[in-house]
Amino acid sequence: MFSTEIGEKPIDSTNFKNYSCDLFTIFLCTRNLLCKTQKVYKKLFTRTIVCDILIATLIEGENMQILKGYVFRFYPNEKQEQLINKTIGCCRFVYNYFLDDKIKEYKETGKSKSAYDQIKLLPSLSKEKEWLKEVDSCALRNSLFNLGDAFKNFYNGSGYPKFKAKGVHERYKTNNIKSSYKGKEYNSIKLDLKNKIITLPKLKEVKIRGYRNKEVISGNIKSAIIKKEAGKYYVSVLIEEPLIRPAFTPKSIIGIDLGIKDLIVTSYNEKIENTIKLNTKRLIGLQRGISRCKPGSKNRYKMRLKIQRMYQKIRNARKHMIHDITNKLIKENDIIVTENLDVKSMQKNHYIAKGLNENPISEVIRMLKYKATWNNKKLIQIDRYYPSSQICNVCNYQNKEVKDLSIRKWECPVCHTIHDRDYNASVNIMFEGLKIYMKNIEQSV
Ligand SMILES: [Zn+2]
Repeated sequence: MFSTEIGEKPIDSTNFKNYSCDLFTIFLCTRNLLCKTQKVYKKLFTRTIVCDILIATLIEGENMQILKGYVFRFYPNEKQEQLINKTIGCCRFVYNYFLDDKIKEYKETGKSKSAYDQIKLLPSLSKEKEWLKEVDSCALRNSLFNLGDAFKNFYNGSGYPKFKAKGVHERYKTNNIKSSYKGKEYNSIKLDLKNKIITLPKLKEVKIRGYRNKEVISGNIKSAIIKKEAGKYYVSVLIEEPLIRPAFTPKSIIGIDLGIKDLIVTSYNEKIENTIKLNTKRLIGLQRGISRCKPGSKNRYKMRLKIQRMYQKIRNARKHMIHDITNKLIKENDIIVTENLDVKSMQKNHYIAKGLNENPISEVIRMLKYKATWNNKKLIQIDRYYPSSQICNVCNYQNKEVKDLSIRKWECPVCHTIHDRDYNASVNIMFEGLKIYMKNIEQSV
């Protein structure tokens, strides 16, 4: 068994390996590490809940504010629909106008205006272009912030900002502006879940659908994004909610290996395949159809809508699948360990359909991140260069021949265990995450 001296040695995951995933042993070991000195011992009992066997961590409960997005289907009447389309158009105009301005100015002077300086020019532009006054001015300001962000991304290595085209990413963002008059508080965005109505600047009251089981959402509304997708309207409301987090007391840990074919392989040897795939045959057929239609014709518009709906259907199905997977992972495990993958370079290596711009792997990580925070769980991401698939999880031998991605199964030359590539990797990921977790606890003591 483990002695209390274990804390003196450097933390080595091999110590746990003989006990495989037995959490009792792992946490017993954690406790031994923590009980190095009397002082630590005291801390353990005052700051954490100590169960009979399992040991709690030293992370105290904390209260924080989180941002949650609620997406509703949105039913504007004819007039409101016109106004939404007008606003989207005006935002696009402002974005392109100032992008052009920026390019010209940079060519002449080698400098260009910041988003804040551009916003100051908006009123004079609206005097020139009267129709800009008819739409939500907050949305126009936000499109300039978007332009600023596009340039920030460019300086961080993304592509040069492009001009916005009609019919692509049709959306605008507006903020909730609070004001008070005669002691009464007013909000520019109001959400009435009971009567299924949202109030937005300029649009006034619009019918919504969604969140049937909720009557109220408490918290502060920050902003709303109105978007048009495949001919349908949606509004996504960003709300700041208080989150009370009790002390973190982990009892289980899981390592997951993320991949293209099997989306997830866990350290409990569960495999989840990525079952949702694009019907490429139908897509090619539709694309052929679109090229046969005259540009600007009604049939061409209908065809495009069909393609958009096809993409939307797959996106929704995949989102649903990833929600299910991540919900299960978060519900059943306290600590989740993944690799810190370079999703961008993966995207270059593998075929990922255009139009489905989000990579399912990055979507899994994104959801795990926020769900872990909301549910008081921990997500640990290990170094992307850690050779998780090359190390034998039984004897720790590193087999460099396994680098070759086509090897799915291999035998360890030292201990002769036969490994499934992904399962072995997920077990190593779990141990590496545990090591990081324990190191962090040690440092915080
Ligand atoms: Zn081995």
